[in-house]
Amino acid sequence: MHRFHYVGNSLHCESVELAAVARLYGTPTYVYSAATVEDNYRRLAGSLDGLDVQVCYAMKANSSLALLRLFANLGAAFDVVSGGELRRVLAAGAKVNRSVFAGVGKTEAEIRFALESGIFALHAESEPELARINHVAGQLGRKAAVGIRVNPDVDARTHAKITTGKSENKFGIPLKFAAAAYAAAAKLPHLELKGVQMHIGSQLTEVGPFVEAVEKIAPLARQLQRDFGITYFSLGGGIGVVYQDALASGAAAWWDALPADRRPITPEAYGAALKPLLQPLGLKLLLEPGRFMVGNAGVLLSRVEYLKRGQGKNFLILDAAMNDLVRPAMYDAYHEIVPLQRDTSRRALMADIVGPICESGDCFATDRTVQELGEGEYVAFLSAGAYGHVMAGRYNSRPMPAEVLVRGSSFELVNARESFEQMVAGERVPAWLK
Ligand SMILES: *Cc1c(COP(=O)(O)O)cnc(C)c1O
Repeated sequence: MHRFHYVGNSLHCESVELAAVARLYGTPTYVYSAATVEDNYRRLAGSLDGLDVQVCYAMKANSSLALLRLFANLGAAFDVVSGGELRRVLAAGAKVNRSVFAGVGKTEAEIRFALESGIFALHAESEPELARINHVAGQLGRKAAVGIRVNPDVDARTHAKITTGKSENKFGIPLKFAAAAYAAAAKLPHLELKGVQMHIGSQLTEVGPFVEAVEKIAPLARQLQRDFGITYFSLGGGIGVVYQDALASGAAAWWDALPADRRPITPEAYGAALKPLLQPLGLKLLLEPGRFMVGNAGVLLSRVEYLKRGQGKNFLILDAAMNDLVRPAMYDAYHEIVPLQRDTSRRALMADIVGPICESGDCFATDRTVQELGEGEYVAFLSAGAYGHVMAGRYNSRPMPAEVLVRGSSFELVNARESFEQMVAGERVPAWLK
């Protein structure tokens, strides 16, 4: 459920008319709903009610400082994957003493920074990394708390580029070698073995793979608790959001109307399926959701530049491009695209919805049916809150898009559109070329 809906014929985020945001701050602009984020957080945190749960928001999905502060205020900690993300948490005014550091390629500098910042634990993905963490902790004269990411070899049944829990993926230590990896790590003097970690992929739409993975890892977790006194089980992220019927899925009635076996994953179903497996372990549980927390809480606003009527094909050319929202080009992702001003008296238009960049990949949708639209009108890409702005770039010297946060009837620019001066600030022409 989310807070994007038509009031009359104009699309609103909570009580804010999105066309007003587009007119004031221009486009392309991302708009986020604080109430939707809060709702997602509370539902997921409550899904394992009665167990000792810490939500560590996987901030790589959307690391806007404003959203980080919103999460911190809600009681969330963070799952960070780089020194830059760690700095963002601190810049947002949050602490990292309940947060974890994940990723397959942590540098020495990142490990040192995380330890000095008082991170709750580092999630290691290989034996050489454990050795490196031990080494850095030794230099600092302290012990590093670690969990090892275990790869359960489970098929998450999601897109190939976002599946991570199969044995052929680069992530984690295979389950059958995990006990040996812990035994070896236990001999390293500057490590404290604190937990076990899994993360099997992203945009999962069913609970089955989560259940399978937890069932596979639970016996190991028990053994590690007994042998090394680990205290937590980190379940990773991966809960999917609705892309296809994004607008309709804002209403509770949409979910209720679906038969249970066709309903996309919900936090309630996730919790209900996992609780019986997790409760007997008596471990603290870390949840590291990214996409679920923010995916349906954000839209990308864009302006129609041209309606080009080609030979046997129409093109709706927008001012947003693949640099602003790369998911369609990179993952063949589907985003629902709707007009900010709905007009049911207009004809339907079948068109390819594209950006201005000279690449065939700069195409958001092929043969999509939308209401006929013309120059100067606005559209919104729904479910664009996760892996949207964070993956944006400057290809074609297009500036990084702006970001706006809505709460109730008010909205605020939380990230200004990049200026040309900011874009070229680090560049210089060498004297020998002048
Ligand atoms: C990306 C990632 C997450 C978050 O995944 P989502 O699908 O966005 O929930 C959590 N944990 C780890 C280790 C990750 O790499």
